[in-house]
Amino acid sequence: MESDESRRPSTDTGVDWRTPAELSDYRTTPDYAETVDYLERIAASHPGTVRIESFGRTGEGRDLKLVIASKDGVFDSEEIHRSGRVVLLVQNAIHAGEMDGKDACLALLRDILRERELSHLLERVVLLFIPVYNIDGHERRSPYGRINQNGPETFGWRANATNLNLNRDYMKADAPETRAFHRMFRRWRPDFFVDNHVTDGADFQYDVTFALDASLDVFPPTAEWIRSAITPELVRQVNESGHLTFPGAVFLKDDTDPSKGLAFTENPPRFSTGQMILENRPGLLVELHMLKDYRTRVTGDYELMRSLLELLDQDAAKLVALNREADRAAAQLGSTTPPNAPFPLVLEGSGTTTSVEFRGYAFTRVPSDVSGSVAVHYRKEPWEATIPVEADARVAVSVPPPAGYIVPPQWVQVIDVLEVHGVDIRRTTAPWTGPVERYLCSGMRWPERPFEGRFPIIRGGNVEREMGQFGACERRTETSTFPSGSVVVSLNQRLSKVAIHWLEPEAPDSALRWGFFAPIFEQKESGEAYVLEKLARETLAEDPEVKAEFDRRLKADPAFAGDPRARLDFFYVRSPWGAANRVGEYPVGRLLSLNGLPID
Ligand SMILES: [Zn+2]
Repeated sequence: MESDESRRPSTDTGVDWRTPAELSDYRTTPDYAETVDYLERIAASHPGTVRIESFGRTGEGRDLKLVIASKDGVFDSEEIHRSGRVVLLVQNAIHAGEMDGKDACLALLRDILRERELSHLLERVVLLFIPVYNIDGHERRSPYGRINQNGPETFGWRANATNLNLNRDYMKADAPETRAFHRMFRRWRPDFFVDNHVTDGADFQYDVTFALDASLDVFPPTAEWIRSAITPELVRQVNESGHLTFPGAVFLKDDTDPSKGLAFTENPPRFSTGQMILENRPGLLVELHMLKDYRTRVTGDYELMRSLLELLDQDAAKLVALNREADRAAAQLGSTTPPNAPFPLVLEGSGTTTSVEFRGYAFTRVPSDVSGSVAVHYRKEPWEATIPVEADARVAVSVPPPAGYIVPPQWVQVIDVLEVHGVDIRRTTAPWTGPVERYLCSGMRWPERPFEGRFPIIRGGNVEREMGQFGACERRTETSTFPSGSVVVSLNQRLSKVAIHWLEPEAPDSALRWGFFAPIFEQKESGEAYVLEKLARETLAEDPEVKAEFDRRLKADPAFAGDPRARLDFFYVRSPWGAANRVGEYPVGRLLSLNGLPID
């Protein structure tokens, strides 16, 4: 691609500024030490513009680095925000086999600093990038990390050193990397976020695909700006540079048949871009095509980020104003107008489709005696077709936001996650009794196998299949007592959506779904068989309703009829002794008002 050649060398000062990937002609990608060496050389030659900060450590103890490029040497985030400049954060190699963004960022930073025609890109934008986020995975280098991918010669591993996928960890924050990310994000409060990946999935002509879908759920005026000013311009500019761009994540409805079209993708907050919805910020998911060669992918990503910087530079004032409004709207969720306007928790495809022109490759579908299913063979000849795409989302589950939540202090890990996200919490200074809404949950089924180190009850999208089964949580108003030191979370704050998504049981990545409240579903007391025998006989004699239910169950459920312990427990759980176990009582209260709470 021409711009790559013309921008290259820079041996003008006797120093060779080619990046490690360029030096190898894109056969290889540098390890972390080489990457940091190159960045430190750049920082040393532009000390008034570039700074490298550490923002935490990985599980194996490696230093997480953030590179900051600020034209006037101001590196204080508050001062930068006051000056009305846009803070752009680019994240690379969260899936460390997909490291293209790292090499693209090295080249882009060099060129912004050294090429006169790019220097304006820092006029109204401060560029932050994480060269490698999943460093431990990145250093687990081999030629065998990604069978789908066309180069470079070796690459890192998808998961971190404890085999967690960091791009499923944003909400629950189990990994030290995630915790470091949230602290850094809170300090910088970026205005726009980019997450660089390489695809899995189908073969097609596009080398650069990107999705701003999650941004459409941030705030309606932000969605409008993304639709009208950002997406079409990114496509135009990147295509003009000689790449071929598709503005959407390509998830096929049917992996063996591209003509069936593209599926709706949801953005729950376990994903980076889903997390951005809760942060009230646009998030751009970049997916470079896995079968394109490394040079094509890296330079394509370079052009996408360069174009984005152009657009953010032009629209800096607009974006800053939109983010301010989005924060303000989020900070009023505790007093919604009209009162109790529903807040969407789960979105799903609306079932309606539109169509899109798609530039794929010709394919044949043949029966496979290896898989016993259908194999798809792509040929490298263009297949251009109009295919259906599930465009719109509809709200599948919503909840009216309360004024706030109250969490009993013993739920330490639940509270810890709120703090990691930077949610403002306050503590009660005395026991408090008052009216709250609480849930009674039942019918949960846990999955047989772990997912991300836990046994969650989560909905599958296109990426994950259904895991376990969410039963039901019924809301009722009651008077409850909460101990001194309980945590009060007002929904009149910038991060109100984090609190809602963490504390509403049915939210797609709630604490309850991820197992943080698993003990509430355990029955801790039970009766001896000879004790329950007596209870059962008395109940059968005194309570015709329970007797009828028991008889029905015996007839309808042979497994139950054949299980002596289940037959006795039937009576225990319906007795006051059974109820004393409080199985399924969700401990968090939904506050109707924050008035009168004993908080400091
Ligand atoms: Zn990825």
